[in-house]
Amino acid sequence: MTSRIYYTDPYCRRFEASVTKAFVHDGRPAALLDRTAFYPTSGGQPFDTGKLFEGDGAGKAGGAGKAGEAGGVSAIEVVETIDVNDDVVHILSAPVTEGAMVGAEIDWTRRFDHMQQHTGQHLLSAAFDRLFENRTVSFHMGSDASTIDLQREASWEQIARAEGEANRVVWENREVAIRFVTSQHAAALPLRKEPAREGTLRLIEVQDFDLSACGGTHVSRTGAIGSLVVTAAEKFKGGTRVTFAAGTRAIRAFQSLREAVAGSVRLLSVLPRELPVAIERMQAETKDLRRTLRRFQEALAAHEGARLIGACEVGRGAALVIVEALDGWDVNGLKAIATHVTAQANAVVALFSTESPHAVVIARSPGMAVDASAVLGALIERFGGRGGGKADLAQGGGLTTDVAEIATATRRLLGPLSLS
Ligand SMILES: [Zn+2]
Repeated sequence: MTSRIYYTDPYCRRFEASVTKAFVHDGRPAALLDRTAFYPTSGGQPFDTGKLFEGDGAGKAGGAGKAGEAGGVSAIEVVETIDVNDDVVHILSAPVTEGAMVGAEIDWTRRFDHMQQHTGQHLLSAAFDRLFENRTVSFHMGSDASTIDLQREASWEQIARAEGEANRVVWENREVAIRFVTSQHAAALPLRKEPAREGTLRLIEVQDFDLSACGGTHVSRTGAIGSLVVTAAEKFKGGTRVTFAAGTRAIRAFQSLREAVAGSVRLLSVLPRELPVAIERMQAETKDLRRTLRRFQEALAAHEGARLIGACEVGRGAALVIVEALDGWDVNGLKAIATHVTAQANAVVALFSTESPHAVVIARSPGMAVDASAVLGALIERFGGRGGGKADLAQGGGLTTDVAEIATATRRLLGPLSLS
């Protein structure tokens, strides 16, 4: 069983150890050490990474880390650390020699970030618990965001209060102590959460604020967290999932918000706090503009329809067959024109947009013996694109063939009618 240095000394980042077993785990080189400061994934906290140093003097004090790869010492990456049957398995970039003494160094930037998030989580969970008796049912620390899942729903007002309470404890720089007790002894203690395991329990105690059973790594005083912010909250499984960022991540979260907000205020020429109102106003204006545009389009479509009817040289009462490519109209505009024509005359109309990919609308007046959707189907089968509709009106798009060729094919499809 590996002796876990981080249980009692979470600030240990360099150490020496002997390789008690060198083996292959899931196809990757791996090692067990007699003692380790590497934290394996558990309790919501991700694993540590770092380096092992093997070679002359690598195992001696001072050899680790500082020696690097100089003087016959080779560095091997610890790419992952996992807990397997009470042992800590170090997954390596290259094999290490069984029985060798090695120096070791954990990636402290990564680990310290995890410590800030994890202690931050204890504070935030304790704050929800103490203020609103809202328990944390699970905790997850991702590479960007960390979340706690609360048993019950929390309002934004409650979230802001819990956030404030957690930060107050951060700024009071309270001691975070590690204690070991038996599970019988623990039963008499006011633990925030019932411990799931028997035997010796490791407790993390934030002075006069929180007491939890936890195997994770924590900062020694709350001040090291710096600050903690809740970045998002959503309903989740009958409760609330709260996303938070502590320490360096809180600063990063602020920086990314600042960038987004700065870009928006520049574009809209308003103050940050005026953004929601400015966006609301823009949305209302857009809605008005769309309505106006639709009105103009309808009026213009009626004109265009009248022009198409007027351009047909046929005798009074005869059926019109209109096949035209029109400039500047989308499928809705073409539909409006076609509908106008089929209402004003006894007609079959096929309209295309001149821009490729071409939109198509085919329509007929009541009583005309043409199946618009069948004609469209034939065009799509031949030229590609997509669309559908009914016998009196069909619309489609995505045709990329030359529009004159599509028009010719359409005239041919409507042929028997054009001759009548
Ligand atoms: Zn914990």
